[in-house]
Amino acid sequence: MSLSPKSTKPRRKKVPKALAVIDADNCTGCESCREICPVDCIVKIEQYADTPGLGAWCEVDWDQCIGCKLCIRIPSKKSDAHVLQVCPWEAIEMVPVPGLVAAAGRMTGPEDFVAANRQRLLAAARRQVAHKAAAGGRAPGE
Ligand code: SF4
Ligand code: SF4
Repeated sequence: MSLSPKSTKPRRKKVPKALAVIDADNCTGCESCREICPVDCIVKIEQYADTPGLGAWCEVDWDQCIGCKLCIRIPSKKSDAHVLQVCPWEAIEMVPVPGLVAAAGRMTGPEDFVAANRQRLLAAARRQVAHKAAAGGRAPGE
């Protein structure tokens, strides 16, 4: 399995209230969300190096996500009932930053990938909580 290299230094001036989280078990790796993300923070993970796309899925780089929600739906007028949903499988949700550590703990995907990457994701989640708390003057998790 391959994961694109990711920065651990936030590019944002501040951490948004909520960040996008992808449920790997529901994601098909179609890349619709990647095409629309304005900061290019959605990473495609290939399960098999010799068969790109097969069993692939995507993950959000929480250090870069600006919380714009564009990967969930295209904005439209409030009166428009037909809002364009980006992910065909409803695999993306916006998780408030204090809930990110729990979301990381529920990480989905192939067992070996989860085992190898859970700590990385937990560390990324804790980083967002700490940055957010530092900006707001509160202790992490408050
Ligand atoms: S919320 Fe915005 S910045 Fe974050 S992954 Fe979705 S499109 Fe990208
Ligand atoms: S749009 Fe949905 S299914 Fe497609 S890559 Fe993004 S999260 Fe996965």
